[in-house]
Amino acid sequence: MNCEPNSERIPEEGLTLVNRLRAMGYEAWFVGGCVRDLLMGNEPNDWDICTSAKPEQTKAVFEGYRIHETGIKHGTVLVMSGGAGYEITTYRTEQDYSDHRRPDRVEFISELSGDLARRDFTVNAMAYHPSEGVVDLFGGRNDLERGVIRAVGDPGERFGEDALRMLRAIRFAGRFSFAVEPVTAQAIHEKRGDLRYIAAERIFSELKGILSAPKPSGLLVEFADLFAEILPELEPMFGFAQHNPHHDGDCWQHTVRVVDAVPPEPTLRLAALFHDVGKPTCFTLDEQGIGHFYDHVRQSSRLVHQALNRLKCDKETRMAVEALVLAHDQTLPQTPVGVRRYLAKQGTQLVSQLIFLRRADILGQSSERREEKLEQLNRFEALVTAELERGGCLTLEQLEISGTDLMEHGVPAGPELGRLLKAALNGVLDGAVANQRDALLAYLHIM
Ligand code: ATP
Ligand code: MG
Repeated sequence: MNCEPNSERIPEEGLTLVNRLRAMGYEAWFVGGCVRDLLMGNEPNDWDICTSAKPEQTKAVFEGYRIHETGIKHGTVLVMSGGAGYEITTYRTEQDYSDHRRPDRVEFISELSGDLARRDFTVNAMAYHPSEGVVDLFGGRNDLERGVIRAVGDPGERFGEDALRMLRAIRFAGRFSFAVEPVTAQAIHEKRGDLRYIAAERIFSELKGILSAPKPSGLLVEFADLFAEILPELEPMFGFAQHNPHHDGDCWQHTVRVVDAVPPEPTLRLAALFHDVGKPTCFTLDEQGIGHFYDHVRQSSRLVHQALNRLKCDKETRMAVEALVLAHDQTLPQTPVGVRRYLAKQGTQLVSQLIFLRRADILGQSSERREEKLEQLNRFEALVTAELERGGCLTLEQLEISGTDLMEHGVPAGPELGRLLKAALNGVLDGAVANQRDALLAYLHIM
């Protein structure tokens, strides 16, 4: 942790804006995430500025600059400089959170302290100017050093004002591998039900952020009760014993291990989170006392469909997650022809993600037959890599003949065209015919 922020990282243009406000007699500071990131030695995403100038005054100070006023009702003027945008926000408080989300009104104020007090966490509530140093009224630096996310003020009150802050706390804790400070954590457990007031899209966006942490497992376990509020589908997995030699953890313990073990990319992390979600409802115990989960894959894909639709997940991501969940337990082909057919059916994108999911799933299970499972997966992966390097034909689009070619050879327009093209593709995948125009036409008996 740096004792002082490294002011050399501040873009020249940003500092010019702050100093211009100051030259006009206003207060102006860098604030929030960028101060936190500077103190941590990270590269900030954006450089937010706060000021005592009212929005109209800010506009006047930056006459001649390109300005966007979309946030002006909340005090924010976006000033463009050097190809980047700087949000300059008037000191403000927020009031009357009657719906547990955005405030009913904001009030512009003249004191920096009030503006810092409205912010969510101590580490996000610091201001900085290179010639004056860090303004830290709530112990943000100390919390950064200790690695904790702590609400500014009374956590219960702050989460009551805006329930989204609970998810933000978990997202920041995960991103920086911090702990949520105990009183703040307790308030999250108590206020978790307020998440029902938050729009699905905003919840989903935070959820993706939480799942992008290097290792979300600890937080998924600590705040399982909160995740059950937004994803009740997960709850039956908590503590669900599997009674199966392939598993040495309950369903939820296994799930969070798999989440950690896939790369931090939303589709894969979501697929890991949901891959076994249907298990508890499909559980049966045989005479030997071994647990089975027949058909859990289809049940899991039904539940993930339901959950992601409710959270207003975009269709592309949802379809990809569902496809991964459906494929996560399939027997993988172990021959070149089998792999080509599999790639053609599932698409190369899904197959490369599936390899990550499968490896993580195996590593999240008990050591029972682990070597054998990994060997099979490695063999499959090697065949996939070889096939992709070869760059052979895997789709109808890559075939050297098209519907037009077939019509030119007298095949009438209609479903027969599609049938013939599919037969040609299957011939190529099986190695029965080369992907060459004349060879394909001969193979289809069309010459
Ligand atoms: P990131 O690097 O992810 O952008 P950030 O800290 O900049 O992190 P933003 O969401 O961009 O986070 O918000 C900017 C600042 O505004 C925060 O640092 C915080 O001070 C304040 N803030 C944002 N959302 C809230 C909220 N819901 N309640 C209170 N303060 C908030
Ligand atoms: Mg930000």
